[in-house]
Amino acid sequence: MKTHPTNGKFVLPVLSYAPDALAPVISAETIGYHYGKHLQTYINNLNAALPGSKYEGMALEEIVTDSEGGVYNNAGQTLNHTLYFLQFRSPKADNRPTGRIGKAIDEQFGSFAAFQEAFVKAGTTLFGSGWVWLSADKDGQLVITQEKNADNPICKGLRPLLTFDVWEHAYYIDYQNRRQDHLNALWQIVDWEVIEQRM
Ligand code: MN
Repeated sequence: MKTHPTNGKFVLPVLSYAPDALAPVISAETIGYHYGKHLQTYINNLNAALPGSKYEGMALEEIVTDSEGGVYNNAGQTLNHTLYFLQFRSPKADNRPTGRIGKAIDEQFGSFAAFQEAFVKAGTTLFGSGWVWLSADKDGQLVITQEKNADNPICKGLRPLLTFDVWEHAYYIDYQNRRQDHLNALWQIVDWEVIEQRM
């Protein structure tokens, strides 16, 4: 599924939850800055670069795979954050994947717990700013990747399914330097139905 501009502009993705609905995993204050200011700024910067460029009218995913420099950074971060913010719902204590995605994780990682450990480890060992992703390759095999800065797995020919943002702006208000605690808490708010729909 591709993300197209509306009247020539990309817009903030509409969230299915209230700003305080993810608390205490992600506070309303963090949503206010991260979604309301950081993501909005990436979108504004991208929109400002489009008129008169070869990217005018292109889908977001096409811009990400075809661009470089400032356009790439802002398009990548717009796509990354759109996938990120649309994958959550209110916290649930024993939240785990079911259906096709649950079966695929069990088969390919041994168990959900083994997958969680590998995914969080990829997030905590990523030096600097970036993202940890679960994606599907062209054969449907699941793969965990670390992506630096604004990078997205579509540039490697992968289909992105789930992502945790490890830029400090994603967790510093709520967790300060405790990136691992933040990543472990995020499991409570993953909407696995959304992840399964992306398979
Ligand atoms: Mn972010």
